[in-house]
Amino acid sequence: MKNLQTAFDTVIVGGGFGGLTAALLLANRGEDICLLEGHTVTGGSASCFDRFERDSSGNYLRYRFDVGATTLSGLHEGGPLRRLFNEGGATPPMRSVDPGMIVTFADERRIYRWSDTDKWIAECERVFAPEGQRPFWEHIFRINQRGWNLSEKNPSFPPKSLGDLLRMARPINLRNLDLLQYLYRSVAEEMERYGVNCDSRFHDFLKEQLMITSQNVPSDTPFLVGAMGLAYPSDTWYPEGGMYGVARWLEHEIEGRGGVVRTKRRGKQIRRDGSEWIIETSRENYRAKRVISNLTTWDMAELLNNRGDTIRQLNQLDETVELWGAFTLYVAVQDTLEDGGSLYHQIHSSPLPHIGTQSIFVSLSPSDDRERAPEGWRTITVSTHVPKPEEWERLAADDPEEYERRKVEVGEAMLEVMGGGLPGFRESEKKFLLYGTPRSFAFYTGRRHGRVGGVPHTLRRSLFTTPKYRTRLPNVYLVGDTLYPGQGVPAVVLGALNLVDEIGNTS
Ligand SMILES: Cc1cc2nc3c(=O)[nH]c(=O)nc-3n(C[C@H](O)[C@H](O)[C@H](O)COP(=O)(O)OP(=O)(O)OC[C@H]3O[C@@H](n4cnc5c(N)ncnc54)[C@H](O)[C@@H]3O)c2cc1C
Repeated sequence: MKNLQTAFDTVIVGGGFGGLTAALLLANRGEDICLLEGHTVTGGSASCFDRFERDSSGNYLRYRFDVGATTLSGLHEGGPLRRLFNEGGATPPMRSVDPGMIVTFADERRIYRWSDTDKWIAECERVFAPEGQRPFWEHIFRINQRGWNLSEKNPSFPPKSLGDLLRMARPINLRNLDLLQYLYRSVAEEMERYGVNCDSRFHDFLKEQLMITSQNVPSDTPFLVGAMGLAYPSDTWYPEGGMYGVARWLEHEIEGRGGVVRTKRRGKQIRRDGSEWIIETSRENYRAKRVISNLTTWDMAELLNNRGDTIRQLNQLDETVELWGAFTLYVAVQDTLEDGGSLYHQIHSSPLPHIGTQSIFVSLSPSDDRERAPEGWRTITVSTHVPKPEEWERLAADDPEEYERRKVEVGEAMLEVMGGGLPGFRESEKKFLLYGTPRSFAFYTGRRHGRVGGVPHTLRRSLFTTPKYRTRLPNVYLVGDTLYPGQGVPAVVLGALNLVDEIGNTS
């Protein structure tokens, strides 16, 4: 085993998709790296947990639940996940899911998000007022494509320094200058321009779809970000074994290149020692020339005792932005569901008690993935957004009984919504019914107040104002969903790809 007292080139604190990506890329470049993860497994918000039971012969049967994220996208040629897997030299086993999602409205009518553009537009014309649907969706897919082109080929975007501006002065960027207008125009404005704003059902549909990807409403979501979010179900993948299947694959690839991955190592403090950094953990101390943090910006600020201008500034973000939390429900069900041919379902509802959100996102394990559940069973993760997650933490501390009562009320309401939107669920036999609140996420992922999913883009807080991965502290960098480009696994992976590119350009 490697002597952990030796200095590493880079220590990465946090083993979410941001940290894992940075670790693999640096190990690939021959760096001596060590990734420290506080929890027992890597993956963070896209990890898993297991429950076991014994069968009649005394053998353990495993039920594996995705903890938060369940869908993978960005695997198109040049996409962040494709580039990451190319770095690993292979693609971990996964299957395309088409329809990428089925949306069930409160009146139990369904719409299928087919991956083929024409089929999807025809589906919209069938379900909503057909006028304007085709040009609107063609506009979305065009802007989505151009948005990916710009962000993938452009690690210096958005420019934060003269160096970034100079690096950006290339033909591809000049050709894409007109995209900037879509940072300041909302999805709602574009709906109006294309005449698709009169159908209230379509508005509700877009509102709930945007909640999953941009975590904001149509009137405040910049169209560029909104278009990229609204196009995503056409590129939906299920990793075999669930999301942890990818995290585990990344760990394996990192270690295969000589990198060190250590779980149950929670960073407690990071301090300077000469030209190096000392990372104090719950176990040993580590020494490194460079530190990459995969924590939220405010959690990293705390580890650094709020030192340095950038860190102080990032920490202030904490006071000014509203972030969402998540309420989750985990359950194993007998495989008697009618899933309509998709693993992913969004079900609309009336406002849920205590949180007020109006849809739930249901992810099923495939019937044939034996890593997830024994024959005849499936595991399910259900999630919804929670406003002001810090209030759940406070309630748990001040009034534990009321916290428990509310938790059960929200969970039961979600079960009721599933009963209406997922045929066969109500009658199916169930095991391991568990609920997760913002407090659970704070505990397991170390994210302050259980704020998850990143910083929502708004018209006021556009991509330009999102913090980037550089800090003013020497050799301290940041990755993760509280930085540019933001939310979801593909964005986090893209941020880490850009960071390593930047490190390569400057070292
Ligand atoms: C309910 C839910 C559903 C979602 N669904 C999707 C989806 O379907 N598709 C999608 O693309 N995205 C989805 N997302 C968003 C996505 O999961 C996240 O944006 C992304 O995984 C964040 O990755 P990250 O690397 O920034 O941070 P994290 O995943 O939060 O990882 C940070 C890691 O750092 C570790 N850590 C924290 N503090 C310390 C410390 N002091 N020392 C050491 N380690 C530490 C944590 O344990 C964690 O492993 C979802 C999120 C949630 C909450």
